[in-house]
Amino acid sequence: MGKIWRVSGPLVIADDMKGSQVYEVVEIGEEGLVGEIVGLEGNKAIIQAHEDTQGLKVGEVVRGTGSVLSAELGPGLVGSIYDGLQKSLLTLGENIGPFIKRGAKASALPRDKKWQFTPKVKVGDAVSQGDIIGLVPETNLIEHRIMVPLGIKGTIKEIRRGDYTVEEPVAWIEHDGEVKELTLMQEWPVRKPRPYKQRSDPSGLLTTGMRILDYMFPLALGGKASIPGGFGTGKTVALQQLARWAQTHLNIYVGCGERGNEMADVLTSFRELKDPNTGRLLQEKEIFIANTSNMPVVAREASIFVGITMAEYFRDMGYDILLVADSTSRWAEAMREMSGRLEEMPGEEGFPSYMGSRLSSFYERAGMVECLGNPERKGSVTVAGAVSPPGADFSEPVTQNTLRIIDALYALDVSLANKRHFPAINWLTSYSLYVDAVKDWWNEHDPGWENTRASALKVLQQEAELEEIVRLIGPEALPEGDKLLLLTARMIREDFLQQSSYHEVDTYCTPAKAGLMLKTIMKFYELAQEMSNSGAGIESIRSSPMVYRISRMKDIPNDAFEQRVKELWSEMEQSLVTGKRVP
Ligand code: ADP
Ligand code: MG
Repeated sequence: MGKIWRVSGPLVIADDMKGSQVYEVVEIGEEGLVGEIVGLEGNKAIIQAHEDTQGLKVGEVVRGTGSVLSAELGPGLVGSIYDGLQKSLLTLGENIGPFIKRGAKASALPRDKKWQFTPKVKVGDAVSQGDIIGLVPETNLIEHRIMVPLGIKGTIKEIRRGDYTVEEPVAWIEHDGEVKELTLMQEWPVRKPRPYKQRSDPSGLLTTGMRILDYMFPLALGGKASIPGGFGTGKTVALQQLARWAQTHLNIYVGCGERGNEMADVLTSFRELKDPNTGRLLQEKEIFIANTSNMPVVAREASIFVGITMAEYFRDMGYDILLVADSTSRWAEAMREMSGRLEEMPGEEGFPSYMGSRLSSFYERAGMVECLGNPERKGSVTVAGAVSPPGADFSEPVTQNTLRIIDALYALDVSLANKRHFPAINWLTSYSLYVDAVKDWWNEHDPGWENTRASALKVLQQEAELEEIVRLIGPEALPEGDKLLLLTARMIREDFLQQSSYHEVDTYCTPAKAGLMLKTIMKFYELAQEMSNSGAGIESIRSSPMVYRISRMKDIPNDAFEQRVKELWSEMEQSLVTGKRVP
């Protein structure tokens, strides 16, 4: 047992700490605040406190726990709200009210709740790490698959069907004469990636319901993406949309250092909104980690690693998981603060030189894997992190370090946000390296995808090239063909890329609807070109009722779209072909 030697913000130095380990969790002071040893110098331990250290005094006790920062994993995670140290905010709220005291303890998984366990293996079966030994219906949307913890193997001696808490044994495994009890719960050190059999490349579309993502800059299952953007450009809204509508098995929302009222908004909306495919409440497939701006700064890092550990645990069951983090810049700022207190040699803009590798140790845990154990299964973790560059300047270190790691970039643009073009994702600077990874998926669902996508992006590119000329000579001096191109580009931007999160129908667009919408615009372009070639003026094309009809496509419900668009196409052919005949 040691004692406090010095305290400076989240940095605590303790004396008499011989025998401690780096990354060991310690309890500081009478209240037992959670801290992690980040360095050892002789008898002294350098500790990063994850809770507010105000009022701690020199000489107070510091107790080593002998274990590293770990997450509790088992039934009861889904639908929970945690702080950065995986304390259940729901339990804390019930026991001690809304103002949570530091040092307050609340286990992550409820201890009294009984879960219905159905064995999937029988006495005499040989099992080893990762094998699924039984099932627990956790929510209506998630079946919790109980796995043999890592490092354990043997023969099932006994396994019980029935209702159990997470601490009661449900199975006994014998190996070399030694018997081990298994419960529904296990623990995992959060800084250590969970192992798997084999990693494979991200593949298949992670359907988000956002047209500019799904159709233009797709995210693949197992991918890693970043959403950088200045203040008010729509980072939080975009991540909330992802967490709501992504067609994954489970989504994890990490609110990292952002405002508490935003977190409250997320939580209420998830208690009301329903999954479009199953009609069940979204919170039945969601875990929340709230580490808001009024909570201790260094716990931001813990919240990120607790979140990704939970994601890997559900991945290991064979599920596709999405984790969103808002915002990784706040985490980087916490690193900077700690590094400053440690008087480390600062890197760029005061961030520690290891910031890049710390960020990548988080993002690199995304991926598609073949899971350990039987039955054979694949699972994936996809990560999307917001970055908040001060002054929307993407050349700053957190954005630059993140860009080196991720494979899909959704660059939010201040000028688009100012024009209320949402999502304010810039189509010229954003990219996805997952186009090949989702090609098979798209070809199966919409064979024209590659061509339609490429030709629409080309129109937008050409629009950008024309911009300079338009500035010089004005749009009306352009040749007819270019005027038509500008009209089409505007339709792609306004009628396809723009999508309101607040519109009942438009908030979620199926890939099928997205494909048909864009094809309709491209079809219009084709017919309009024919019309123009036969002498019709741009004015008559612009004022065609079809232009208005196309602009209202967004409001048509997903399931009615295919029928309605057929009508639209035949009308379009008639009206534009008729238009062609008009002198
Ligand atoms: P940031 O997190 O980048 O500071 P927010 O996500 O809070 O920005 O977005 C700021 C505002 O922009 C929102 O309150 C909303 O009015 C608008 N907004 C952003 N994205 C959308 C969207 N997809 N649809 C409609 N409005 C949006
Ligand atoms: Mg925000």
